[in-house]
This record gives sequence, C-alpha cells and structure tokens, in this order.
Amino acid sequence: MKVLVINCGSSSLKYQVLDMTNEQLLAKGLVERIGMDGSVINHTKMGMDKISTEVPMANHKDAIAQVLNAIVDENHGVVKSMEEIGAVGHRVVHAGEKYAESVLIDSNVIKALEDCIELAPLHNPPNLLGIAACRELMPTTPMVGVFDTAFHQTMPAHNYLYAIPYEYYTKYGIRKYGFHGTSHKYVSERAAAKLNVSINDLKIITCHLGNGASVSAIKYGKVIDTSMGFTPLQGLVMGTRSGDIDPAIVTFIREKENLPHGVVNDILNKKSGVLGISGVSSDFRDLEDAVAEGDERAALALRVFAQKVRFYIGAYIAEMNGVDALIFTAGVGENSAEMRAHICNEMGNLGIKLDLLKNKVRGQERVISTDDSKVKILLVPTNEELMIARDTYKIVNERLRK
Ligand code: ADP
Repeated sequence: MKVLVINCGSSSLKYQVLDMTNEQLLAKGLVERIGMDGSVINHTKMGMDKISTEVPMANHKDAIAQVLNAIVDENHGVVKSMEEIGAVGHRVVHAGEKYAESVLIDSNVIKALEDCIELAPLHNPPNLLGIAACRELMPTTPMVGVFDTAFHQTMPAHNYLYAIPYEYYTKYGIRKYGFHGTSHKYVSERAAAKLNVSINDLKIITCHLGNGASVSAIKYGKVIDTSMGFTPLQGLVMGTRSGDIDPAIVTFIREKENLPHGVVNDILNKKSGVLGISGVSSDFRDLEDAVAEGDERAALALRVFAQKVRFYIGAYIAEMNGVDALIFTAGVGENSAEMRAHICNEMGNLGIKLDLLKNKVRGQERVISTDDSKVKILLVPTNEELMIARDTYKIVNERLRK
C-alpha cells in the first residue's frame, strides 16, 4: 500500500508518499505561501532533481490539489492514478485527552479535534483544513490522524497536573499535554531496536532538540514525563521560546512595558530563547559561528540551553530511578556534536560518558557513548513522517481485514 503523509501548517504544507510494503520513500515536497502571492510547490521524486512550480494557491484545498497533481504527474509522479494511494496520514498537533493513539478519521474525530482548537489555536485549524481538503478531493480514501500529544497520554496525573486550583483542569483542561510525541516514540523505538533490547525493559530519556525542543522520560515504553506542557512554550530553552520561567515575570513585564494583552505571550514565544539571550539568531549554526568570532552573549545562550537540557536529564533520572539510554535527535541533536558534548559533559558519576570520537557524526543512527558508559548514548535521526505512515498503514490494514 502507498500512503500519503500530510503535515499542514497555516501557510505551508509538507508531504511524502511512501510505499509501505518496504517503507520506501517515493516522493516528498513542500508547498509554501498558501493564500499569498508567489505560492509555490517544491516536489521531489526520489532519485530525481527537485522541481519548483509557482502556481496560485488561494487555500489549502488548492494546495492539496497541486500535491495530488504532482504525485500523479507523468514525469515526476510516483503513482499512475490516485486509486493507488491506499490511505492518507495526517499529522495533527493536539488531540487533548481524547486520543492516546492514532485513529481512523471520521466526523466524530473531526469534532473532537475542533474541540481542541482552543488548546492549539495556531496548529489545529490548518491541520483540520488539510483533512477537510483531502476528504473533499479523495472522498473514498481512508484517512488517519496521528497526534503530537498522543504518546504522552500515559503520563500519570502527578506529572501532568499543575498546582493551580483543580477546577481549571476540570473546566478548561489546563494540564500538561506534551508535544513532539511522534518523534519521541519513533526514536525510542529505534533506539531499543538498535540496542537489541525490548523497549519494555528500558528506561529512556529522549532529547528532541530542534527549533522547538523537548525532553521525555520513557519508562518501559510509556512516557511518564515530558518537558513541554499545556503549550509548547514550557520546558527547555528553545530557538525563540523561553521555556520555563517564573510565571510572575509575565505580569511584571506587562506592567513595566505597558504592553497590551497578548504581547507578552508573543515575546515569550517568538523573541525569547537563544535568540532572546544572544540577540544574534535562533539558529544554532549562526550561534556557533558567532561564538567562534568571540560573541559572549551567543556563548551564554548556548550554555543556558545546554544547562536546561542537563537539568531535565537529571530530573528524569530521578523520576525513573535511573536511565539505560539517552537519545539525541532533531536539527540540533542530530547535527551539533558540540552541543551534545556540552550537554553530556561531567555526567560520568551518573553513568553517562560520551565518546568524543564516536560523537563526531551527523545525522546517522549510532551509539556515541564509550564502551564503559553505563548509559548508552545514541544519536537517532527522527522520522515523524515514517511514523505517521506506519500508524496509517497499520490502522487502515486492520480495518480492511475486518
Ligand atoms: P523544527 O522542526 O523544530 O523547525 P529542526 O529539528 O529542523 O527544527 O531543527 C532546526 C534547527 O537545527 C535549526 O534552527 C538549527 O539551529 C539546527 N541545526 C541544523 N543543522 C545544524 C548544525 N549543523 N549545527 C548546529 N545546529 C544545527
């Protein structure tokens, strides 16, 4: 079966087509500037050059129509007709407490995801637009929703509840949800396979360090804690997000700077993190370059970032009474040997010893700890699309068998 994976943002859309008989990637692409001037589809059939086509796309339905055109195209397409696409997997950010696993999409699921818009006002609406467009253009193709929050639903109440009046949880659903779940699940499963140990016997800490960043504690295959919270703002210091701060700072800044409603939220999401501290960039490559040129604040930003990751690693070792495997993934985690070294520095007493030579690697699945390190350290490139395609294939196959 061939599966189309769709990840819809507000003005962009990423897609992949995978043949799930051998998990082979056939084509991938990115649509940008949906609903704006200069909208463009960048399509790559694997093994061929990328093709960029500027074509007006007023909305997500136009964008999906262009994606479907590209994948059936005579020259750079990967299927003869849409009948060959057996299922579509949709990445959806927030499923609240409703779904702990991926599900076949029907009108009840759509209603449940609409109910979660309040919890993810920037993400769920475009995700839902993508689903609606696909249902319109491919009315008989089964669709599966794969949720960023789902993997974290195993967290116990003592880890997801905030110590604020309990009625805010019952009335508004204010609790820790966690995000990047698909990535944390994928890399933890890969790591278990690589170590040749059942995930049910492992205590794992996964560090997803990209522009957005989070750490999860996964005990015997189940998330027991994660650093992102009610929104993706909590936890680690990120590219532009503050991560954990004293909540009193919000009202303090608002009063001092006389800011209108909502602006502080914007500052904490878009102008903080390593960008806020360094004043240079949210991109870790720019920061590493700036440090090489002697920029003190860029160096401080990277130290604050690393320190927060170390803080969570320590906390999760305590929560799980130990750790067997520590995993690095996503843009920074996969590419920055310096950052991995910085994070793992002087944790030998915790059994964490990085092999500096093995660590000199990028984007490759590999054990990077020393042979005598009690904790295995692994670099595992994430692949959320493959995880989405796997869940989609499994769920649709199960339905076909019924
Ligand atoms: P997201 O999916 O959250 O946007 P990614 O996981 O793609 O983020 O990570 C993007 C980040 O990865 C970039 O902002 C950049 O800082 C970092 N990155 C990518 N390549 C490198 C590299 N070679 N060295 C250091 N950081 C890198």
